[in-house]
Amino acid sequence: MFKIGIGPSSSHTLGPWKAALQFLDSLEQGNNLKKVHSIKVLLYGSLAKTGVGHGTAVAIQLGLCGEDPVTFDVTAIDKSIFQIKQTQQLIIAGKYPIDFNPVDDIEFLFTESLPFHPNALTFLVQLQNGESFAETYYSIGGGFVVKEGETSHGNNSVVLPFPINTAKDLLHWCMKTGMMISEIVLENESSWRPEPDTRKQAINIWRVMKECIYRGCHTQGVLPGGLNVKRRGFNLNRRLLKDTTYTDYESWLSCIKAGGNNFTYILDWVSCFALAVNEENASFGRVVTAPTNGAAGVIPAVLQYYICFCDGNSEEKIIQFLLTASEVGSIFKKGATISAAMGGCQAEIGVSSAMAAAALTEAMGGSQRQALMAAEIAMEHHLGLTCDPIGGLVQIPCIERNTMGAIKAITASQLALQSQPDFAKVSLDGVIKTMWDTALDMNSKYKETSDGGLAIHIPISLSEC
Ligand code: SF4
Repeated sequence: MFKIGIGPSSSHTLGPWKAALQFLDSLEQGNNLKKVHSIKVLLYGSLAKTGVGHGTAVAIQLGLCGEDPVTFDVTAIDKSIFQIKQTQQLIIAGKYPIDFNPVDDIEFLFTESLPFHPNALTFLVQLQNGESFAETYYSIGGGFVVKEGETSHGNNSVVLPFPINTAKDLLHWCMKTGMMISEIVLENESSWRPEPDTRKQAINIWRVMKECIYRGCHTQGVLPGGLNVKRRGFNLNRRLLKDTTYTDYESWLSCIKAGGNNFTYILDWVSCFALAVNEENASFGRVVTAPTNGAAGVIPAVLQYYICFCDGNSEEKIIQFLLTASEVGSIFKKGATISAAMGGCQAEIGVSSAMAAAALTEAMGGSQRQALMAAEIAMEHHLGLTCDPIGGLVQIPCIERNTMGAIKAITASQLALQSQPDFAKVSLDGVIKTMWDTALDMNSKYKETSDGGLAIHIPISLSEC
C-alpha cells in the first residue's frame, strides 16, 4: 500500500512512470530494446483528461529514460524534460537514443476510453526493421499497474498464513489467534521477506514521510501549474512556533511538543502536517503514496499527530501504525477501489482516512474490533465524495482535503475508542460494498476527469505546458 515515489498523482504520474519501466522490461525480454526506431504513446480516458495537470507526460518520458521514481533526484526533473524537448531525442533505458518529440509522440485521446479501466496507455513501437507492435497498460490506482491480458492480483504463488480479502476475514484471524491487526500483517509479510526487512522498510517509509512533512513546512512559494496557489504550510508552521529557532526534525519536534495540548493548537498542527505533504506532492516532490498521491498527506499527518501529541514516538509504534493502515487499505483495494478514476475521491481521501483511523485506534490501545469500527466510521463519512480537481491539478480541492481526511480519521478513532463495536450497525465490509456501489453509480464527470464539480465552476485560465 505504501510506495516511495514522486508527486503529484499515483495513478497519473507514478503509475504511467512504472508502466513505461515495465514496457522497457518487456522490450528487453523480447530482445527488442536496442532495435527500437520510434515510440509513440497514446493516453486514454482520465489519463488524457487530467494528464497534463498530473504530469503524466513528464512521468512517461522519465520512465522511458529508465529513471527510477524512488531514487530519481526530483530537482532534476525540469532539466531532463527540457533536454528531451530541446534535442527532440530520448535515450531509452538510458542507453539507446531515439527521435522523440513529446508534443507529437505523446497523444492525449480526450474522447476515447478503454473498457477495462479509465486510466489506460498504449505504447506503439516501431523497430528498425520496420516491424511494429503495441502494448497497453492500465494504471489502476495507488501506483499499481496492470499490463493488458495480465492479472491484477499480484503474486498468487505465495501462501499466506492468514489469507485476507475482507474485514471479516481479518477479524476472524484476530479472534482465532488473539493477535492484533499489525501482528497478523507482520506474519503475512514474512511470507515475502524476513521480518527484520519488513520492519526496516516500514521505518524507511516513515523516514520519507517525515522528511516530506519537514520539507513542506519549510518551503515557501507558489505551486506550479498555473493556478497560482500559494503554499501555506510554511507560514502556518512559522506562526505556530512563533519564530522559535531549531536545527533539524528532532529539535523541531521538541518545539512542537513544548507548545502544549490546546485543541486549536493540535488542530492547526494536523492541518499543517497534511498541507505540507500535499504541497510537496503538488510540486513534483518526493512523497509516499498512501494509498495514493492525492491523499498522501492524511496518514503522515495522523501519524505525526500521534508522535507529537500521543507519545507515539517509538519505532515499534510507528511500525505497528503503518502495518495496520496497510491492511485496511488492502481490504479496500480488494473489495472496492483505490482509484479516483473508478470511484471518485472517496477512493483516495476516504480510504486514506479509514486506514489512518484504524491504525491510530490500534496504536492507542483499541481492540481489533474498535480499529475496524474506526475505519468504517471514517469511510462512512466520505461516501460519495467526488473527484473534481481544478485545472486537472492535484491542488484544489486536494491539498485542503487531506486536512479534512486527517481530522476525520482522528475523530473516527476517538469515537470508536469510546464505543462498543458490538452495537455498531454498519460493518467495515458493509461500508466497502456501499462505497463500491456508489462508485459504480457515480457520474464519470466526478471521477478524475475535471469535467464536473469545482473543476468547471471555478474559472481559471491555464497556459499549456
Ligand atoms: S479531488 Fe481527491 S481524488 Fe481527485 S485528485 Fe484531488 S485528492 Fe485525488
